[in-house]
Amino acid sequence: MSSSNFMEVTFKAISINESFARICVAGFCVQLNPSIDEIGDIKTAVSEAVTNCVVHAYPKHNGTITMRCEIDGDMVKIIIKDQGIGIKDIEKAREPFYTTKPSEERSGMGFSVMESFMDKVEVEQNGEKGLTVTMYKQINSSVVQVSDAS
Ligand code: ATP
Ligand code: MG
Repeated sequence: MSSSNFMEVTFKAISINESFARICVAGFCVQLNPSIDEIGDIKTAVSEAVTNCVVHAYPKHNGTITMRCEIDGDMVKIIIKDQGIGIKDIEKAREPFYTTKPSEERSGMGFSVMESFMDKVEVEQNGEKGLTVTMYKQINSSVVQVSDAS
């Protein structure tokens, strides 16, 4: 079996697609034999990143979200990209409780949730337009323990 694989999907940035994105990534990651907790962590992080694109990226018009998932050995890399308004001060936006939409009962915890459920989270402005969130997680349960018979 090859130890590297990828998939990429593009879908409309509307809230009904949040559950699609979660299920889609979870289905793809099954090949790594993740634990229930690991798959739950990935789904939660993906939900936050996709919800951010739906809620914040396109205030004036409809847009799209591209989600790419790469597997390399037991490492999963998930890239979620929009072509929306982007973020001026990314460092500030990543702080816990920072939100530009307090009136909509946002708690400003999305990026903090992604960070706590994944091993590493990178947030960058796209060259052209919008935001790219890249998240990494090692799937430990896929490591098969082989006992030393010698
Ligand atoms: P919560 O996730 O708790 O509902 P939130 O979405 O405001 O609240 P974060 O997910 O931490 O909190 O995001 C912080 C801020 O970063 C947002 O309020 C928004 O201003 C900005 N932001 C996040 N993602 C994007 C995006 N894809 N495009 C534009 N701005 C974004
Ligand atoms: Mg959020």
